[in-house]
Amino acid sequence: MLVLEILWALASSGDYVLSIDLYTIYILSMVVISVVMVAYMVLVTIGPRGKKEPEKRVVTVLRCPKCGYKKIREFREGDYVGKIVDEKCPKCNVSLVIDAIYEENIMGLSQAVKNKKSKGKKEAHN
Ligand SMILES: [Zn+2]
Repeated sequence: MLVLEILWALASSGDYVLSIDLYTIYILSMVVISVVMVAYMVLVTIGPRGKKEPEKRVVTVLRCPKCGYKKIREFREGDYVGKIVDEKCPKCNVSLVIDAIYEENIMGLSQAVKNKKSKGKKEAHN
C-alpha cells in the first residue's frame, strides 16, 4: 500500500509517466537482482565441486576369473590391469582381477554447462 501511496504522490506531483517508469525499473531491477543472486548461488554451489572433481572419473573394472562376474568401482592408486585385488566374487569367493581401467564421462550439470560454453565444437554424433 505504501508503494501505491508513493506512486500516487508521484503521479499527483506531475510526471506520471516517469513515476510509472521508476516503479517498473524498480520491479525489474528487483527481478534482475533475484535472478543474478540465484545464478550466483548456483555457480558458487557448482563451482568448487566442478574444480575438485574432474569432468571424467577413472573407474576400474574388476572381473572374476572363474565366472566372469564384473564389478565397477572407482580407480584407486596402484590399480593396474591384471592385478589381483582383495575384493572377492560374491558367487565363487575368488579374488577379483582388474580387467580394465578407463575414464568414465560424468554427464552432469557441469558437463552440460561446458557443452553450452564450447560454441566451436559441434555435436559430432547424436
Ligand atoms: Zn565368480
